[in-house]
Amino acid sequence: MITLKQIGKVESNFKEKEDPFVMRKQVSRIILEIDYTEGLYRLSEVPYIQVIFGFHLSDGYSLKGPVYTGETRGVFASRSPNRPSPLGVTTVKLIGIENNILTVSGLDAVDGTPVYDIKPYASVFDETGEEPPEKEWTFPDPRSEIIRFVRAEDIKACLLKAGTIHGHFCPGLASGVYVSVMAMKKLYSGNGNRTCSDGMEKMIVITETNNCFSDGIQVVTGCTFGNNGLIFYDIGKTAATFLIRGKDTGFRIRMKPDFHTILEEKHPEFSRLFQRVVRERAGTEEDIAAFKIKGREACFGLLSIPFDSLFECKEVKTMLPSYAPIFDNVICYRCREQLMESKAVRKNGEIFCKQCGGSGFSRLTGEGIIQ
Ligand SMILES: [Zn+2]
Ligand SMILES: [Zn+2]
Repeated sequence: MITLKQIGKVESNFKEKEDPFVMRKQVSRIILEIDYTEGLYRLSEVPYIQVIFGFHLSDGYSLKGPVYTGETRGVFASRSPNRPSPLGVTTVKLIGIENNILTVSGLDAVDGTPVYDIKPYASVFDETGEEPPEKEWTFPDPRSEIIRFVRAEDIKACLLKAGTIHGHFCPGLASGVYVSVMAMKKLYSGNGNRTCSDGMEKMIVITETNNCFSDGIQVVTGCTFGNNGLIFYDIGKTAATFLIRGKDTGFRIRMKPDFHTILEEKHPEFSRLFQRVVRERAGTEEDIAAFKIKGREACFGLLSIPFDSLFECKEVKTMLPSYAPIFDNVICYRCREQLMESKAVRKNGEIFCKQCGGSGFSRLTGEGIIQ
């Protein structure tokens, strides 16, 4: 058995454990024991260093558990701080060295963390030298990238992703993204439950509007119409309730009435063009082009307005619907198309779809749910 020598400690603004993706954005310092200072000779020549430190706050371990995407993995297949030898290794950017003090960025260690070793990051040792495997064969968790953004509270990166399904950048989309990132932070904070939404109905969102706002919600939370994680209340309020199964409280976040006044003050040109292009449908080609540019500005600009001045968040108790039932399929007697049994119409002992059976059905359109 070898004995580890503590060579220094971390000085950080984080006094207690935070999300590593949030912590890695911070600059921190490593204070080396003065007797080891000579060992730093020529370290300043490298841009990145590896820091080996102790997870001194970790308490026991389990061999299998959830990782940040919510998937279950073995401890040696994870970066969990709770491990048989509670050691962490992080590659950080070396900003500077002054005597026995190193300034670094990207270190996910709290204030007072013991440091056991420092090594230069060297690509010849730290990279395999092989081509990374073809992406399509590795099947990464499809939500891992967006969850990383959510956990780092990188709302801008989430918004860029949301643009891929929404098609344009607008303040409504930004609002949906903004409230979802904040709601997920609240839902998952401090309960040791590191499970994020995985499209399996563990997390549920009730949205109260079918517009741009709801697209931002779907991308960030992963709760969609298709995976039944998204429930729609047709009441036309820019508001949504965020819930997790197994917890009886969630959060309802609504847009404050001042929202539009604030937006108009900050982006008057956008509001004018919105009126012309969208409300009156009277915009020229130039107006439409300008509207898109101004929309993008208002969209990304929204993220720098304090959350509390735009939205209100309340803890709520809500009964969650049960998991979406799985229905068998049947064949319509007339058109021979397949449909869910629960939607079938029975007439004279035969099964029909609603269209062939002459029964009305609801539609979700821009106007909401209509008959
Ligand atoms: Zn939009
Ligand atoms: Zn039919």
